[in-house]
Amino acid sequence: MSTQSVGKQRHQVVVIGSGFGGLFGTQHLRNADVDITLISKTSTHLFQPLLYQVATGILSTGEIAPATRLVLRKQDNAQVLLGDVIDVDLANKQVTSRLLNRDTVTAFDSLIVATGAQQSYFGNDHFATWAPGMKTIDDALELRARILGAFEQAEVAETREDRERLMTFIVVGAGPTGVELAGQIAELADRTLDGTFRTIDPRDARVILIEGTGAVLGPMGPKLGNKAAKQLEKMGVEIQLNTLVTDVDAHGVVVKDPDGGTRRIEATCKVWSAGVQASPLGKMIAERSEGTEVDRAGRVVVEPDLTVKGHPNVFVVGDLMSVPGVPGQAQGAIQGATYAAKAIKAGLGGQSPADRKPFKYFNKGSMATVSRFNAVCQVGKLEFGGFIAWLAWLALHLYYLVGYRNRIVTVIGWFVSFLGRNRGQMAATEQWVFARLAIEEVNSDQSEADELAAHLGAPPAENNRLTKEQREFG
Ligand SMILES: Cc1cc2nc3c(=O)[nH]c(=O)nc-3n(C[C@H](O)[C@H](O)[C@H](O)COP(=O)(O)OP(=O)(O)OC[C@H]3O[C@@H](n4cnc5c(N)ncnc54)[C@H](O)[C@@H]3O)c2cc1C
Repeated sequence: MSTQSVGKQRHQVVVIGSGFGGLFGTQHLRNADVDITLISKTSTHLFQPLLYQVATGILSTGEIAPATRLVLRKQDNAQVLLGDVIDVDLANKQVTSRLLNRDTVTAFDSLIVATGAQQSYFGNDHFATWAPGMKTIDDALELRARILGAFEQAEVAETREDRERLMTFIVVGAGPTGVELAGQIAELADRTLDGTFRTIDPRDARVILIEGTGAVLGPMGPKLGNKAAKQLEKMGVEIQLNTLVTDVDAHGVVVKDPDGGTRRIEATCKVWSAGVQASPLGKMIAERSEGTEVDRAGRVVVEPDLTVKGHPNVFVVGDLMSVPGVPGQAQGAIQGATYAAKAIKAGLGGQSPADRKPFKYFNKGSMATVSRFNAVCQVGKLEFGGFIAWLAWLALHLYYLVGYRNRIVTVIGWFVSFLGRNRGQMAATEQWVFARLAIEEVNSDQSEADELAAHLGAPPAENNRLTKEQREFG
């Protein structure tokens, strides 16, 4: 076990997570008289809103996930550590992170926790094997390989049933991610793949969007939801509302209709975008902070200054925090992290935590793309859709992408895909499809995990079980 921060004199800030909250919090402390250690289990700053474009061959992973240490290269007061935080000791002010089997303990004076959320299968985690979510780079690449692989298999399928199953794509959940994915799978089939196969016509693909509630894009209201639904239907997407997925297997899903009846839909490629669950660190922190609670999604019910009870130096921000009226969106994470960084700076200047003004969220609106040239957008009371909304979506996403190079390459990728028919990132491999199963198998067998860890040069430890992310860097 190694220990960080020994003998350091300045105020020590530990930031957990390299998403919107973690990165913006760190950058906001750029000129502060502090040492920052950013610890994240992924080596990149992932721009999740564009994951679906990686999954559908428009963008590469590099464009939406620059390496965090490159982004922070010039920020001298920040150190980046790769590691899965496995323990947060609030009483002794230290965080333990693990990289393979190497544990590192990092001391803090102030802590910003921004570990976000993961996919929720509402207690049916085994669904993930056949219906991956859309939260990580791995998810997006796996999905790309599953989508393209399904068409490849359909080309050589021998029976009509096989072909139809392979050319049916199910997206579960009609929130922004589900809508964007369904739209892009339809466009991929209709435009990019059109004319590229000889025994199948990709335009025959069925894209089914299944939603448990009665509305598409529910939180955006009926006007925008209906607009998005109409556009999707125009593109051939079948929308099934008030329909609950009750089982998922390799070859399809079972759904429960509003009348209580059940039926099966045969489909090889399924994707889950139906719910989120906060990172487990939220529960750990709440349990250790005398009376802090978590909500149903596991998010930490924070104090008005985004801290946890009894620890005015511990901030929880982004998708991990539960604050009424703040949605699980990038803006919530950015504003929360900026607030925490300002509070830390004010503390260095002598401000007492009791004098902090409560966090106030400024709602800048929300948007979702439906297809090329078509999006829906909500800013305050203003609701609009179509081409103007799409341009607004384009500009905003470019603005928040990190790095000039990424912005330029992304614009080129969009030109190629939206003006022409091609997509620049159509590579897919068998390993991307099957890695999840292989990792599940390795993780279920301790001796195999030990062997693998030894092979990767990790020191022996009590528990050599490797997480998916740890394997990624082996
Ligand atoms: C597919 C998709 C589309 C989206 N589209 C939009 C959109 O259009 N507009 C919008 O505003 N928002 C969108 N969102 C939501 C937005 O991305 C999130 O609200 C935002 O990323 C939250 O930021 P965060 O910093 O709290 O968490 P995240 O960005 O999720 O970052 C969490 C970080 O914590 C790290 N981490 C997690 N656990 C640990 C651990 N134990 N130890 C160390 N590190 C850990 C992760 O590796 C990651 O770096 C979308 C999300 C998804 C998944």
